[in-house]
Amino acid sequence: MSVAENIEKLKQQIGNGVTLVAVSKTKPAALILEAYNAGQRDFGENYIQELTEKYAQLPKDIQWHMIGHVQTNKVKYIAPFVHLIHGVDSLKLLKEINKQAEKNNRVIQCLLQVHIAQEETKFGFDPAEILALIKGEEWKTLKNVCIKGLMTMGSNTDDMKQVEEEFLKVKYLFDEFCNYIPASPGGPSAMPVLSMGMSGDFALAIKCGSNMIRVGSLLFGERNYSPK
Ligand SMILES: *Cc1c(COP(=O)(O)O)cnc(C)c1O
Repeated sequence: MSVAENIEKLKQQIGNGVTLVAVSKTKPAALILEAYNAGQRDFGENYIQELTEKYAQLPKDIQWHMIGHVQTNKVKYIAPFVHLIHGVDSLKLLKEINKQAEKNNRVIQCLLQVHIAQEETKFGFDPAEILALIKGEEWKTLKNVCIKGLMTMGSNTDDMKQVEEEFLKVKYLFDEFCNYIPASPGGPSAMPVLSMGMSGDFALAIKCGSNMIRVGSLLFGERNYSPK
């Protein structure tokens, strides 16, 4: 099946209330254009350099999502154009994003990453840290970032029962978290975001309350390197 057919099929499966971020890391611009020509506008990358190169080459109405780990000293390269940064895992990083957004006269949308998987290698805040941060006052002084919601990655396991438990924990956290972020103006598109679910577990993630999924290999085929 073509990329266009894959997107069509997946969109029918997930319905209207869920945003599809097409994860194009390691894939060439030509393939991204195929998806673009099929109407896809949200794309995700996990390396800053690859993201900036693709931004330069591809149509300017693409909404670029930074889904990987962000080093503080590299925020400046994506601040002019990035649509949503999924992997905010420290207040220090949030402050740097705020600083670079201000320089670019922008408000940058961010998700706080929740560490829920068993692998220690994964980044993110613990649930308790998320609540402590959002109940605190410091983030409210950062006028050039907008905290839109949460992002998480489930454990890399075939045990779907475990992944489901993790997703439900994050949904539970998300519901509490949403009491503390300001109600965004502008209708349904301004709803809080829960970015959860990849090729192997997106259906489960949606069942557990996700409204944004990040799908790569199911759309573009397997990558020829380990994704993690
Ligand atoms: C690579 C990646 C994805 C997509 O993974 P697939 O299994 O190919 O769908 C989603 N989220 C993050 C953070 C990733 O790095």
